[in-house]
Amino acid sequence: KANRKFHPDDSVIDVDGVKIGGGSFAVIAGPCSIESEEQITYCAQRVKAAGASLLRGGAFKPRTSPYSFQGMRSEGLDLLKLARRATGAPIVTEIMNTEHLPLFENVDLIQVGARNMQNFELLKAVGRQKKPVLLKRGLANTLEEFVMSAEYIMAEGNENVILCERGIRTFETSMRNTLDLAGVVMLHKMTHLPVIVDPSHACGHAWMVPVLAKAAVAAGADGLMIEVHNNPAKAKCDGAQSLTPDQFDELMQFIGKEVEFFGKKL
Ligand code: PEP
Ligand code: MN
Repeated sequence: KANRKFHPDDSVIDVDGVKIGGGSFAVIAGPCSIESEEQITYCAQRVKAAGASLLRGGAFKPRTSPYSFQGMRSEGLDLLKLARRATGAPIVTEIMNTEHLPLFENVDLIQVGARNMQNFELLKAVGRQKKPVLLKRGLANTLEEFVMSAEYIMAEGNENVILCERGIRTFETSMRNTLDLAGVVMLHKMTHLPVIVDPSHACGHAWMVPVLAKAAVAAGADGLMIEVHNNPAKAKCDGAQSLTPDQFDELMQFIGKEVEFFGKKL
């Protein structure tokens, strides 16, 4: 179902009125984690005003250490919904457990994170519900495995899948991951599904995010996911890779023109 061979036309995924794919470009932005009502609402207003069409915010966080901030969980989801009401921007947030699905009924785009890309039972479960799914590439997975994971979701009946390249593990240690932009080009050949790029988790350095975001647009990405925090130095998660709202605003002014240059619409 994901194979380009049997579906030559690009799929366009509709997330509560926001279209992604086939010439429609969308930017997802917001903090790594939801930390308070003020924080998420402020970030939502700023990223929306800058031109983002979807708001992100983690409530259930897949942290490497069990002693790190684990997210505000269902309380965080409630705050994210308040931020949606304040801005009108559809919301994206990560699910980590099939048992949490009922909590995600009111979420517009359900994210399956890199660490769960091959959690096949979770993939089947999000495939059995109707909300679109944002599937992130695993830390060390091939493109073939990535597309097969999308197939798991689609095989259950939900064909609204958006792929996200977010960097892979290589021998390089100066960046958090290695952004596989050639992989974006190859994915577009392999599948008709939209492919977006997350430069924030790919490199781990805020200063590097703008140039990678621009390169992703040039490589044909259908969208971007960018971490933006009201006060990166104090962020509970991923502050080092988060843009300030002002930095995001400046980047979006360029991205808007670049997307148009490549014949797509933001
Ligand atoms: C995230 O988007 O918050 C996240 C945890 O990303 P990834 O699954 O790509 O590491
Ligand atoms: Mn993060």
